[in-house]
Amino acid sequence: MTDFNISNLANRVMVLNANTEKYLVRNCEYQIVPAIEKHQCNRCLGKEFSEVKGKIYCRSCLNFGRIDEEDKLIKFTGEVNFSKQSNYLNWQGQLSTLQQKVSNELSNSIFEYQKHLLWAVTGAGKTEILFQTINKLLKSGQRIIIVSPRIDVCEELYPRFKEAFTLDISLMHGQKEDRLIATQLTIATVHQLLKFEKAFDVIIVDEVDSYPLFGNAWLEKIINKALKPQGRMIYLSATPPKQFLRKVEKIYYLPLRFHGQPLPVPKSKMCFNQATIFKQMKLLQKKQQRFLLFFPSIIAMKEFAAKINWKLNFECVSSEDRQRLEIVERFRAEKIFALLTTTILERGVTFNNVDVLVYNADHKNFSKEVLIQIAGRAGRQKEHFDNQVIFYYRNYNCQIRHAIQEIKSLNKLGEKLS
Ligand SMILES: [Zn+2]
Repeated sequence: MTDFNISNLANRVMVLNANTEKYLVRNCEYQIVPAIEKHQCNRCLGKEFSEVKGKIYCRSCLNFGRIDEEDKLIKFTGEVNFSKQSNYLNWQGQLSTLQQKVSNELSNSIFEYQKHLLWAVTGAGKTEILFQTINKLLKSGQRIIIVSPRIDVCEELYPRFKEAFTLDISLMHGQKEDRLIATQLTIATVHQLLKFEKAFDVIIVDEVDSYPLFGNAWLEKIINKALKPQGRMIYLSATPPKQFLRKVEKIYYLPLRFHGQPLPVPKSKMCFNQATIFKQMKLLQKKQQRFLLFFPSIIAMKEFAAKINWKLNFECVSSEDRQRLEIVERFRAEKIFALLTTTILERGVTFNNVDVLVYNADHKNFSKEVLIQIAGRAGRQKEHFDNQVIFYYRNYNCQIRHAIQEIKSLNKLGEKLS
């Protein structure tokens, strides 16, 4: 690392060992604390411990390397000095009238409130709506991190931000080496925040309603620890749960897709055997209409896939696949005709012109929010706004009903605004 500067470590929390000891140089501000203190882990604030060889260790942050009661942590303090630019945004795109209105609102009230929620339907273009506000924050010297619960989403956001902004951006997640570089703008998975303390002026949380984030008090503590005391939060969601709405101070509402067309309203079909879905798949194949087929579990997906006995260019993708990102990329590039998947692809990913089928939509893994997100994969382009969405079920349930009702009422709201 040629351009390494000790100030890159400001607000980082690291385990003290032979590797990190070398950072404790002169003119470097830090504190050394026990890793575990008063039944709490000082790295992740977790309170779940186990014992190995007579030593207590933290179970919560085990994925980041085991730390036990004899370990010490270094907390680097101080500030990182970022070079100033008069403008950071280099985006040539155009917002719709409604997007521009919401973008202005957010930018104008960003310093007025601490907790903001951008409630935008799937495909509303919420990333682009953030650009103006992020530019304003960067210009005033603020340090920003955008976090998502999913690696796939971070991987998709990173190139878009790199193209839109003129500063260095770091990408941090579990499948990538940590370069220990402090950038003014970072994109990361939520868990990466446990490496920081009082580091960020603004934390933008994408998909705040999704697993494993929603209702997870531990991850919430990690987010708060990484935020500076007077820092601001911007939450993004297409399906914010009711309990969450009470926590925020200011809501920005965008009920229309960027192309101004309504969300595809799912059809629901009773289906007791796979033959019904096979028939639909063959029909789509004949029409050359690409599609996504969602399953409630990996097992259900594999069983179903094993029974496909005709020539079809498809792949299966789930959290178990090492080549997940690569398969998704090939589907996006239209090298794969159909993709069978689990809820791993329910959100954050955009494909051109795909129909969406859901197998066993009445399964408990498909909540109303998940079904709305899944349906939101269809109709993302103006030319194909009316892609088909079909929920196949055995027992029609309230999750299916509520998902369809909410999509219809969002469309009504959008219609009023357009
Ligand atoms: Zn811990």
